[in-house]
Amino acid sequence: MRFDFSHTPKPPPEFHPAQSLGGFETLEKAESDRRTLVSLLHGGNAAQQRLAEIISRCQRGARCHSAACPVCGRQFRMRFAGHLAELIANDDADWWAVTLVPPDRTYPLGGLRQFSPSQFKDRIRKQLERSVLADAAVVFGIDFAVQIFSQPNKAPIWRPHVYKLMRGHSTESIHAALDHYYYPPGPRTPRPIHCRMIDKKTILRVTSYAFKCKFNIRSQICGVDRNRDTHKRPLEPIHLLEIAPLLHQWGFSGRYLLRGFCRTSDTSGKTTLHIDDGISEFVRIASGQ
Ligand SMILES: [Zn+2]
Repeated sequence: MRFDFSHTPKPPPEFHPAQSLGGFETLEKAESDRRTLVSLLHGGNAAQQRLAEIISRCQRGARCHSAACPVCGRQFRMRFAGHLAELIANDDADWWAVTLVPPDRTYPLGGLRQFSPSQFKDRIRKQLERSVLADAAVVFGIDFAVQIFSQPNKAPIWRPHVYKLMRGHSTESIHAALDHYYYPPGPRTPRPIHCRMIDKKTILRVTSYAFKCKFNIRSQICGVDRNRDTHKRPLEPIHLLEIAPLLHQWGFSGRYLLRGFCRTSDTSGKTTLHIDDGISEFVRIASGQ
């Protein structure tokens, strides 16, 4: 289902990351990141310089809407995290956060353009549809890390992975349904799948984690377990130069998937996201969608 978060109103204050999520990046920080990225891209190849031109023109009232732009990324994340947090907090069901790190999707530095987000999303969607989780409402974003190793002869690699929010079911059923798709843990991927029930008191933090615009260099990729997230630092300029044009090409919608949701829209064109169960179906019919 396509739902354009960029064209929704701001979330209510209690679900607005800039107002209710401590540590959410400020507009000033995003602006400064944008200037840094633009000067980096200006020194790059022709494609990188073209992207610099697009992002450098981004301003209040005339945003560039590039998924590589830190300011537009912040705006997108406020709506994405805010609307999903509101929906999940008001839903009676329990939700789970699931990190999936496919061991067979790794790319050498300089080779991330071989990664296809649409194929990646398709694969995860099919794995869900073939399992007992087929009826679950699911939203996930594709995240990236550069993984480094302690052994000096092992080169760093790009690791696309997924942070998925899932309605209903249980830790056991999620593992039972997905474990065999993600192989046994190995030295590069000690925890290919990790899941925990979401504490709805922290829902904004969880939903803001499900779609990120800043990525890290990490020695381990496990996502939700922050205690094991200690060895991380921001991407270096060479990584930013590689991933920025790809983020721009994929767009925001290329990096997330909603499944089991529906939307309603009112006469002014304002759209609202719902979970596609029987009640929401009724709402949808009642509102003429
Ligand atoms: Zn922008």
